[in-house]
Amino acid sequence: MTEITDHFAQIRERVVRAARGSANDVMIVAVSKGQPVEAIDRVYAAGQRRFGESYVQEALPKIEALRDRDIEWHFIGRVQANKTRPIAEHFHWVHTVDRERVAARLDAARPHYAPPLNVLLQVNLAGEPQKSGVSETEAAPLAAAVSRLPRLALRGLMTIPPAEASAAESAALFERLKSLQQALAAAHPGMDVLSMGMSGDFELAIAHGSTCVRIGTAIFGPRR
Ligand SMILES: *Cc1c(COP(=O)(O)O)cnc(C)c1O
Repeated sequence: MTEITDHFAQIRERVVRAARGSANDVMIVAVSKGQPVEAIDRVYAAGQRRFGESYVQEALPKIEALRDRDIEWHFIGRVQANKTRPIAEHFHWVHTVDRERVAARLDAARPHYAPPLNVLLQVNLAGEPQKSGVSETEAAPLAAAVSRLPRLALRGLMTIPPAEASAAESAALFERLKSLQQALAAAHPGMDVLSMGMSGDFELAIAHGSTCVRIGTAIFGPRR
């Protein structure tokens, strides 16, 4: 368990160093899927406040167990239409909105006492059939639709390069997402977040404009 704290300190240092080179402010989302509550609490004690989960069923008991902590929860998994209510009620950010129907349901379910839910649109740049996400051409109409929903705050874009992509291929995809975000931000100035980069490629992502890295195994070790 002290290993987790050491890994976290090293990752934070590497993110700070990479961000200094690129002049972006970069937030770290510690991806805690497949990790127990005690591991999350160790990283929390080391100062981390943003955690990411991919599965609603797994996340809810952890959020409940940690409800006294000052944690900002990020949903980074596939959004199923029948799970939009617990996501809208218990998370602060959703990185993976890719269709209008899901956005409308999140909007309708966001509690009136909470601030608007921060939303990123997932873009499937490589067109991988097994992955969620809109194409580049679908992003503008979806952004327009989301921006009309009062209980959602449209904050930016997210992508995951193909697992087999080379560094050069991933870098090209990160640049494409940055260009798309800059184009959309002209109409939607609140779109200031680019969620890209994971354990294996976060420094590359930061060099290409990432403002939000989602890091799991490099902090916590292997998932259960
Ligand atoms: C699991 C997951 C991560 C974290 O991956 P690591 O390689 O463990 O850092 C990041 N983003 C998404 C969308 C994930 O599902």
